[in-house]
Amino acid sequence: MNPASTASSSDVDLLVVGSGAGGLATAVTAAHLGLKVQVLEKDPQYGGTTAWSGGWMWIPRNPLALAAGIDEDPALPEAYLRHELGDQFDAERVSAFLRQGPRMVEFFQRQTALQFIDGNGIPDFHGRSPAAALGGRSVCAAPFDARRLGRHINSLKPPLAETTLWGMGIASGAELRHFLNALHSPHSFWHVTRLVLRYWRDCLLHGRGLRLVNGNALVGALAASAFEAGVTIQVNTPVKRLLIEGGRVAGVQTAGPEGLRTVRARCGVVLACGGFPHDEARKRELLPHAPTGREHWSAASRGNTGDGLRLGESAGAVVARDLHSAAALAPVSLVPRSDGSVAHFPHLIERAKPGLIAVMANGLRFVNEADSYHDFMSALLAATPAGQPAQAWLLCDHAFIRHYGLGAVKPAPMPLGPWLAKGYLVRGHTLAELARACGIDAAGLQATVQRYNAAALQGQDADFAKGETPYNRIQGDAAAGRANPCMAPLQQGPFYAVRVQPGSLGTFAGLRANAQAQALDAQGRPIPGLYAAGNDMNSLMGGHYPSGGITLGPAMTFGFIAAHHAAGAALPG
Ligand SMILES: Cc1cc2nc3c(=O)[nH]c(=O)nc-3n(C[C@H](O)[C@H](O)[C@H](O)COP(=O)(O)OP(=O)(O)OC[C@H]3O[C@@H](n4cnc5c(N)ncnc54)[C@H](O)[C@@H]3O)c2cc1C
Repeated sequence: MNPASTASSSDVDLLVVGSGAGGLATAVTAAHLGLKVQVLEKDPQYGGTTAWSGGWMWIPRNPLALAAGIDEDPALPEAYLRHELGDQFDAERVSAFLRQGPRMVEFFQRQTALQFIDGNGIPDFHGRSPAAALGGRSVCAAPFDARRLGRHINSLKPPLAETTLWGMGIASGAELRHFLNALHSPHSFWHVTRLVLRYWRDCLLHGRGLRLVNGNALVGALAASAFEAGVTIQVNTPVKRLLIEGGRVAGVQTAGPEGLRTVRARCGVVLACGGFPHDEARKRELLPHAPTGREHWSAASRGNTGDGLRLGESAGAVVARDLHSAAALAPVSLVPRSDGSVAHFPHLIERAKPGLIAVMANGLRFVNEADSYHDFMSALLAATPAGQPAQAWLLCDHAFIRHYGLGAVKPAPMPLGPWLAKGYLVRGHTLAELARACGIDAAGLQATVQRYNAAALQGQDADFAKGETPYNRIQGDAAAGRANPCMAPLQQGPFYAVRVQPGSLGTFAGLRANAQAQALDAQGRPIPGLYAAGNDMNSLMGGHYPSGGITLGPAMTFGFIAAHHAAGAALPG
């Protein structure tokens, strides 16, 4: 690249490309270590997919768990990963992650605006695997008061509209339970009313809600910490090229509102562009279920078009192609919006509640619906006959949809009419009518529901063992008082269905990197001045999905590690 062709240039110590968790964790840490840091963000708003996420981070032996007396042997999380990852287990990176994860949490807790709530009651996904935990291995961003962002609040990416109530984020856990119970418990009703009134007041006075939760709180708190430590976050600034001098990555070329610009970075460049969820060519290559690259509807931020992987390759870095799965799979429904666009809604919450089944076009179940989104989608892909589109329907009765909602459809008292009118939600007064409307085999569906209802009354799913793991049960509804918190018969019509298709929360396949987060070349040698963070770094989990929070936990931890390496600072011992 010829720097002379650029309109202007400037110098910093560390350049971070992308403003999600991977990028911001690196930036904040590096600034605290004394580096002058600039974050470059392509979108008009900072936050990426992280701003839409649940904000959960898988960090075994984190300080909040220890404080609560959950002091597990460090060998246990390692043994769980060894079992779950199989031949993808990378001992060096796993060891760095398990060692530095708790220190990363400690650093942010002590020195920045980011605070955490514990996941001490949240089990790992695969409760039958050796050394799986019942809790104590995750943390989430604590709710964050956006006032601390000052004028920068205007460029914070809001949560994905379809996962909110009128734009208001709902924190997972107890808060979500209050929302689902608002019409059944005066205590929950009052709790929800207070939150909604506060949100409306904020909207009137400030144009948006100021109580940030989940991933929005994570980004808000990280960004506030970044600004307070002197980091600049420049939006509308896509990085187009890496500047390579004498075999070292020395900066970038950006295209911003003011034209082309070269930015030099003394200590290097961190690629944190969020992987390739919207890069058709890469999806065609790495996702077998997407032969044209279009059969995959990722719920990740639309600006994540694989730029980081291409930039890395331009400097000799290598994208891993041997992962168990190249993406963090999830069932996604397509939600038509009034402006003509289509949202990709990931089904993360309602599948485990009692009274929902998932069937294919033959009317048959194919999966334990209460398993993780990744396992659900893997099962659908495995069950889909060759040459047929991978799709399924989430199906429930009237009582279920009014209590729990279904996908983007909210529970009572929110109306169903608009969803039916858009064709997002399909209704049938009988199962046969619903089956015809969806294109499902009616006899197959009726037989499935009959068998399922009998099993639900017993509380035992002989077909798919639904409700048998701690993760299944916590995702279900213990308060429903049933033999199995994930099972209830589908009894009284009308019945409803939403179609789901293959999608993801993000991608796993990324740039090969070492335990210091340095990008590696084809010979496995670190490329001087180049780091990979977040989903631009090849997933530590090797394409497996052992627990919730396994993208944000490593994203934050390896960002923390990358910053130390770039600054030449020793990691906490
Ligand atoms: C609904 C939902 C819930 C989720 N919940 C969780 C959870 O609780 N826990 C968990 O671990 N994971 C969760 N995930 C997944 C997780 O959010 C992502 O894997 C993670 O946010 C990725 O972080 P990142 O920093 O790699 O990328 P992002 O947060 O997506 O940030 C990447 C940024 O890079 C920018 N960018 C791209 N190209 C360029 C360029 N050329 N120049 C400059 N900037 C560029 C993008 O615009 C974007 O802002 C969830 C995902 C979804 C959709």
